[in-house]
Amino acid sequence: MVNCAVINCKNCTNGRRKNQENVSFHRFPHEPNLKRKWIEATGNKDWSPTKHSTICSKHFEEASFVEGKKQRILANAAYPTVDVLKITTEEVSLFIYLLT
Ligand SMILES: [Zn+2]
Repeated sequence: MVNCAVINCKNCTNGRRKNQENVSFHRFPHEPNLKRKWIEATGNKDWSPTKHSTICSKHFEEASFVEGKKQRILANAAYPTVDVLKITTEEVSLFIYLLT
């Protein structure tokens, strides 16, 4: 199972949520400056990614991707720019709704 490293993002590959076929998971880059941008994007600054850490495709703009043979891959130097909180607000309110 792969999880997205972004705080508040619950995307993962355990298949619980059906409607996320278009989500792919991307490993952190090795290049230090780029890696720092990725870490900042997780919202978790006192944290370092492991080699298994990934960020899901929801946090990248469409232009960041190039078509690979089997799946979309990230262009070099792409980093997450999409506001995570915007994506998760909907999920959070759904969660609250389910609890009440
Ligand atoms: Zn995510």
